[in-house]
Amino acid sequence: LSSRAHRAQDTVVKVSDVSFGGDPFVVVAGPCAVESRDQLAATARSVALGGAAVLRGGSYKPRTSPYSFQGLGSEGLGLLAEQRAATGLPVVTEVVDPADLTHVAEVADMVQIGTRNAQNYTLLREAGRAGKPVLLKRGMASTVEEWLLAAEYVLAEGNPDVVLCERGIRSFEPSTRFTLDLSAVVVAKRLSHLPVLVDPSHAAGQAELVRPLALAAAAVGADGVMVDVHPEPSTALCDAGQALTPAGFDELVTALDSLLAGM
Ligand code: PEP
Repeated sequence: LSSRAHRAQDTVVKVSDVSFGGDPFVVVAGPCAVESRDQLAATARSVALGGAAVLRGGSYKPRTSPYSFQGLGSEGLGLLAEQRAATGLPVVTEVVDPADLTHVAEVADMVQIGTRNAQNYTLLREAGRAGKPVLLKRGMASTVEEWLLAAEYVLAEGNPDVVLCERGIRSFEPSTRFTLDLSAVVVAKRLSHLPVLVDPSHAAGQAELVRPLALAAAAVGADGVMVDVHPEPSTALCDAGQALTPAGFDELVTALDSLLAGM
């Protein structure tokens, strides 16, 4: 179902009034984690003004360490709904546990499945039945084929609205947190009709790499990017090193606009 043999033309996935796939290039932005009403409101305001089309924010966080901030859970979903109302931006947020899926899908405009759950077939199947578009991160050790087969689990349940997201893979190279695999974007778009996004924030783990990698993603034909933004990155409770400031986000959007205008 995900293959070009099944469907030759590019799929456009609608999330509220935002189209993933085709024109225009989509910018998804927001905090890695929803931390508080004030933090989310400040971030949502600045990314909306800066040109984001979709607000991101994790409320159920899949943290590597059980001692790290795990997210606000249901309370965070309520804050995301508030900011959707305040900014008009649709919301994407991650579901970690199948038991939370119904609740997450009630609030979110798009449900995210993260890299750590990219081969959780129970969750993928249930996301296929949840009635919301799905943003499917690539597993950090998944081949492109395994990533597309993960998408297949969602599609096979009757949900055609899957957006793929390259977010970096494990490699021998320690100078970035993961290695952003831009060739996988080109390959995935060649093999599949599904839209492909790139998350340079989680790939690099470093804010100063986000802009060049986002520009590179646009240059290789990604349909959009998803980036972390925080009003005060040094205080972020999750992945502080990779968050752009609101000013950094504005610079990114300006740079993307000028690159895309010349393509
Ligand atoms: C995220 O986008 O919040 C996230 C945890 O990403 P990933 O699953 O790619 O690590």
